[in-house]
Amino acid sequence: MVDLSITGLSTNKPAQEQVQVLIIGSGPAGLSAALYSARADLNPVVLSGMELGGQVSLTYTVENYPGFPDGVGGAEMVELFQKQAERFGARLEFDTATEVDLSQRPFRVKTYNGEYLANSLIITTGATPRHLGVPGEVELTGRGVSYCATCDGWFFKDKDVLVVGGGDSALEEGLFLTRYANSIKIVHRRDELRAGAILQKRSFTHPKIEFIWNTVVTEILGENAVSGVRMKNVATGEVGKHSTDGVFIFIGHDPNTELFKGQLEMDEHGYLVVDNLMHTNVPGVYAAGEVADPTFRQVVTSAGMGAAAAMQAIHFLEENSESESEIVVRSG
Ligand code: NAP
Repeated sequence: MVDLSITGLSTNKPAQEQVQVLIIGSGPAGLSAALYSARADLNPVVLSGMELGGQVSLTYTVENYPGFPDGVGGAEMVELFQKQAERFGARLEFDTATEVDLSQRPFRVKTYNGEYLANSLIITTGATPRHLGVPGEVELTGRGVSYCATCDGWFFKDKDVLVVGGGDSALEEGLFLTRYANSIKIVHRRDELRAGAILQKRSFTHPKIEFIWNTVVTEILGENAVSGVRMKNVATGEVGKHSTDGVFIFIGHDPNTELFKGQLEMDEHGYLVVDNLMHTNVPGVYAAGEVADPTFRQVVTSAGMGAAAAMQAIHFLEENSESESEIVVRSG
C-alpha cells in the first residue's frame, strides 16, 4: 500500500471533475507542461502514473541537463520539477488513466480513482525500455544492469561491460561507453546488425569494442552486483559463462500508447505522431516527450516538448473559450 502522505499527492477529489488541462504522465515532459500551463492560470492536473517522474526518477545522476554543473539525482530532479509546477498551481494526483474517449470535447479520461473531463489534454506517458526477460535481470537492475549508458556509463570507469542489441541504440550507447569502460562486448542474436552503416563502421574500428555474434544472454549472474552472464550461441547451441561488471540492454523501447490505440495517429512503432507544434491528429490533444519522440529521448528535449505542448494548449483554450462556456458536464 502506497503511503500518499509522503508523496504530497492529493486524494480528496470528486469522482468526476472538469479541468482545463489534463496531463497524463509525470516525467520531464509532463511536469514541464504542468509548469507552463500552471503559469497561465489553468490549474492543470497531472496524473502521475505508477512511477512519479517516469524513467528519469530511476536514474542515479543526470549530468547533461543544463543548469546543474555538478549533476543532479534523477529523483531529486523530479522533486524540483514537481515543486516548481506546484508553486504555480499545478496539482499532482497519484492516479493512472485507464480509459480515454477523445471522440468529443471535453475529452473523457477514466482513472483508477475517478473520471476527468478535460478541455485540453497533454499526453506524456513516455516509453518503456524492452526487457530481455531473463533470470537475474530484474533483481540486478541498478546493480550493474542498465538501460541507459548516458545515465550510468560513468559508474563503469575502467570496467568491462556487455551491451545487448544490434540496433542504432546498442551501437550508439556502446560507443558512448568507450569513454568510460575498459572493454565493451556487444552481444547480438544474429550475425548482421540492424544499426546504420556509420555506427557500424565506428564500432568495428573502435579498439575497445568487440562483437559476439549469434548469441543471446540467457541469465544475468551476481549476488549484490552483476558478476557475469550465461550466454548461448544460437547457431551452434554452445552455452557458456562470461564475466562482466555490467550489462547494458538496448533491444528497443515501447512507447506507452496502448490507451490511445484507434483514437490517435501512431507510426509503425506505436509512437504518437505529432507535428512540430506537438499537435496530435485530434485538435486539443497534444503529445510530448518519449511517447512522441523515438529519436532524442533526453530529459532536456522532453522538457522542451512539454513546454511547447502546454503553450499550444494555452493557445487552443484561448481560441476556443467561447465554446468552453457552453460545455455541459456529462454525467455517468
Ligand atoms: P531497434 O532498431 O528496434 O533494434 C533493437 C535491436 O535489439 C535489434 O538489433 C534486435 O535484434 C535486438 N533485439 C530485440 N529484441 C531482442 C531480444 N529479445 N533479445 C536480443 N536482442 C533483441 O531499437 P533501437 O536500437 O532502440 O532503435 C529504435 C529506433 O530509434 C530505430 O528506428 C533507430 O534507428 C532509432 N535510433 C536512431 C539513432 C541514431 O540515428 N543515432 C540512435 C538510436 C536509435 P534483430 O536485429 O535481430 O531484430
